[in-house]
Amino acid sequence: MYIVKKKIKGKEYFYLRRSVREGDKVKSKNVAYLGKEKEVAEKRAEEIIKNLEKKVKKREDKEKEDGKIKLKGKMKKENEEKLEEIARIARKRGFFFQTARIYGGKAGFYTYGHLGKALKLDWENLWRKFFLQEENFYEIQSNNILPEKVFEASGHLKNFNDPLVECKKCHFRFRADQFLEDKGIEDTETLSIEKMSKIIKEKNFRCPKCGGNLGEVKWFNMMFPVPIGFNNEKGYLSPETAQASYLAFKEEFEATRNKLPLGLAIIDKAYRNEISPRQLFFRLREFTQAELQIFFDPEKINEHNNWNQVKEKKLRLKLAREKEIKEIRCEELNKKFGLPKFYLYYASKIQNFYLKILKIPLEKFRFRELSKEERAFYNKIHFDVELDLETMGGFKEVAGLHYRTDHDLKGHQKVSKENLEIYYENKRFIPHVLELSFGVDRNIWALLDVFYSVGKEGGIFKFPPKLAPYKLAVLPLIKNKKEFVELAREIYNQLKEEFSCFYDESGSIGRRYARQDEVGTPFCITIDGESLKRKDVTIRDRDTTEQIRVKIKDLKETLKKLLEKEIKFREAGKRISTRKK
Ligand code: ATP
Repeated sequence: MYIVKKKIKGKEYFYLRRSVREGDKVKSKNVAYLGKEKEVAEKRAEEIIKNLEKKVKKREDKEKEDGKIKLKGKMKKENEEKLEEIARIARKRGFFFQTARIYGGKAGFYTYGHLGKALKLDWENLWRKFFLQEENFYEIQSNNILPEKVFEASGHLKNFNDPLVECKKCHFRFRADQFLEDKGIEDTETLSIEKMSKIIKEKNFRCPKCGGNLGEVKWFNMMFPVPIGFNNEKGYLSPETAQASYLAFKEEFEATRNKLPLGLAIIDKAYRNEISPRQLFFRLREFTQAELQIFFDPEKINEHNNWNQVKEKKLRLKLAREKEIKEIRCEELNKKFGLPKFYLYYASKIQNFYLKILKIPLEKFRFRELSKEERAFYNKIHFDVELDLETMGGFKEVAGLHYRTDHDLKGHQKVSKENLEIYYENKRFIPHVLELSFGVDRNIWALLDVFYSVGKEGGIFKFPPKLAPYKLAVLPLIKNKKEFVELAREIYNQLKEEFSCFYDESGSIGRRYARQDEVGTPFCITIDGESLKRKDVTIRDRDTTEQIRVKIKDLKETLKKLLEKEIKFREAGKRISTRKK
């Protein structure tokens, strides 16, 4: 708020004004008349502002007491800054940026730049290697466009809806459940559209853009329609990769010699016409899923060949009826909580993937059980995998483990009229499905959030070497000495055959190190004056900035071991002091 002086017919009048956003414009509005004298006006303004602040605080305290708003404060601001900084580095250094920016872009569509794509490929390959090493588990590839009948059978046509509300004045449309959540209403996912409309009316919630009255909440189907061929046959961009695996099941079951369990994985795009795809990378309209459908005999749900490997392992989870996160042994989860062994085996596997492979700290990981009201009706058991992400304000879903029963195959059998039963171990039945469903882009954002840290020179991504987009950078100490550059290029050419590697000769060595730290390159190799004489180079460690000297002939082997964490950095070569004399 601010004081303005107005001169009317030669006399001075003071007013208190404030700036208000109306749509895209910021307007100035009168709050109070303060009188004709400057000193009195200043005093009055001070009092008015104090009283207003008191009122706001009182309201916030009350809301906090009611448990209706999330605490706002220092942490939140820090996290907002962190989000902005990550987004800035991502854009500037080529992790990701908005698609078609030159045309204004469209919310929910992003392009992976060269570093983002490398990170995504590493994530996907680690996922493949970890989940598809089991017997009779395969990756397949299908189509993104599927005929309407598929979604009639799966139920997407009828049920894949989000609640939409529209402002009667400015016609701004947005997601009603998210809007209510922001207003402090709890468990919005379980509310019917009638209940949402009622809350909006009762609480007199208004349009966040123009303050206008809101209409009734309606369902909005999130699939993108795609007319196929000259007859404009109805098709849709698939909102999940899973359906393509169900369509391929019969062929794959026969081609892989009629065995269960059968795992069919797809890593591909999914499309959802999200109403308000905010949160940057978290809610996209076109995104990548890595999904594994495991077809199994429902009579064997309480067994798994490798149960003994996991029964003593503890899972970190929040059960639907409990408030706290607990660590509970798989055996106990099976006996006391009735979760089947087949389900628990894969839950344990997912936890291992996050903790052991991606190196996510334990306290940032949890499973969250969805209550009956929250989960889709066909999911008999549903736990989300959630990671605690500062930039997203707490634990957020990045994957899910869904026991989908025979819902999908039965649906396809009914609509297609094709018999999808199998004959296996002397009986005929429709197999059940356990689905492991990961949103790849959300996982990529999670890596940026979790491994971001602030170093002396600014933000650094401390990615585990397996995930770092560049594993190495080769840097000649100075670029105007021909011999340095020649040797540096020779080393770079050798290393890039095996590692993803970046060559950089421009700018001071300090800046070049900082640039590599910023994108998370674990090791920098520097060629200096000594290198020519002694045929060795320095390796610099991103996390400690320590340096060692290593003979060029041993370089590849040493780097391999360092990247695989088979040797400690200090033991990999001769340590050198980097302190300036
Ligand atoms: P949400 O509740 O956040 O809308 P969902 O429960 O509908 O997600 P699923 O249908 O279970 O999500 O999809 C599996 C995974 O796909 C999710 O765990 C998430 O990681 C990812 N995912 C879903 N929707 C999006 C989206 N709009 N943008 C990016 N990733 C998504």
